[in-house]
Amino acid sequence: MKKDSDFRTQAFIEETERWSAHNYKPLPVVLERGEGVWVWDVEGNRYLDMLAAYSALNQGHGHPRILEVAHEQLERLTLTSRAFHNDQMGPFLAELCQATGFEKALPMNTGAEAVETAIKMVRKWGYEVKGVPENQGEIIVCEGNFAGRTTTIVSFSSEAQYREGFGPFTPGFRTVPYGDAAAFEEAVNENTVGFLIEPIQGEGGVRVPPDGYLRETREICTRENVPFVADEIQTGLGRTGRLFCCDWEEVRPDVLIVGKALGGGVYPVSATIADHEYMDVFQPGDHGSTFGGNPLGAAIARQALKVTLEEELPQRSAELGAWFMEELQALESPHVDHVRGKGLMVGVVIKETSGPARPFCEALMRRGILAKETQEQVVRFAPPLVIDKDLLAEALEEIGPVLRGDGVEL
Ligand SMILES: *Cc1c(COP(=O)(O)O)cnc(C)c1O
Repeated sequence: MKKDSDFRTQAFIEETERWSAHNYKPLPVVLERGEGVWVWDVEGNRYLDMLAAYSALNQGHGHPRILEVAHEQLERLTLTSRAFHNDQMGPFLAELCQATGFEKALPMNTGAEAVETAIKMVRKWGYEVKGVPENQGEIIVCEGNFAGRTTTIVSFSSEAQYREGFGPFTPGFRTVPYGDAAAFEEAVNENTVGFLIEPIQGEGGVRVPPDGYLRETREICTRENVPFVADEIQTGLGRTGRLFCCDWEEVRPDVLIVGKALGGGVYPVSATIADHEYMDVFQPGDHGSTFGGNPLGAAIARQALKVTLEEELPQRSAELGAWFMEELQALESPHVDHVRGKGLMVGVVIKETSGPARPFCEALMRRGILAKETQEQVVRFAPPLVIDKDLLAEALEEIGPVLRGDGVEL
């Protein structure tokens, strides 16, 4: 028999579906509260959040230090627009640049805006500094990329559904296979103004490129005078076991794009980070955002960054992730093709003969683990980085049976 509370869940879902566009297919769970790695639904059930809002919640739900700063700033000053200065933006950018080792940063809100900012930046750099003829600039991107949903960004997506019905598209992008440095080198020409790359493709299915790929493409970029633009919106801020995923190969991008966890799971904050050679192409009026650099977001991001560094979340992610991946591999499930990832950015690839990943995620949900499929075949595990080993071990007690097919409606 159904409890009253089940009808509440159903009612919230129906209301959302009734009043919104159907542009997502969420798991049928309605959340009302979160703390650390945990979330609770409207029926009072507790779940371990192993998606962490696509890595926007690296510091966990409601991190006390981040909330405290947010509350304080909320009372003091929230929005100035860029028509005036505020006392949070400067310190935020200085701290962000110190943490990343760059000279300048430009604050935005969503990841897609920061990617757009990078695209505009390297195009203008191409024309003004590199000497590419006007409107001939080309940015090289990779197959399987994900960089957001604006019309320009979907213009270079290789995912048919992201594009279908949304043309005409922005020209000026060339696609090469991911993980193939030789193919990238071949695609570079005198009009190339950038190489936009995710050091691990998150939405692409937690695809990890071969060792050495980042370093090789970095060297090609240096040699050919092409800015290496790293989209670390998902991989950044500790997710893969280093502060940035490019750090694994000691690669320093020319342009670094961050978002998601920069907002501490509280508020959208993103930034495009580069040295003055690139940043100085922007003149007053060239680019902007009403909310970009607002004092509330800046104060929150300062604390989100501090928590990431002081709680050593990258190290945690490296240690726990390596162990967690080993344990997943040791399950030797007949349904699992292989396990891949870095740090606590883990993809479990379900064999096609076992059907899609979705029913596995649904079975996990019924056992109190929230994870979401990416692409058809991949179950992604990316919990808040504040998780500990005991909790991961507990999670494995539930994940193990599910990956062996227990409770999965194949
Ligand atoms: C999420 C994501 C984006 C887009 O960020 P939004 O905040 O959703 O606009 C861009 N690039 C990567 C790699 C992402 O994972």
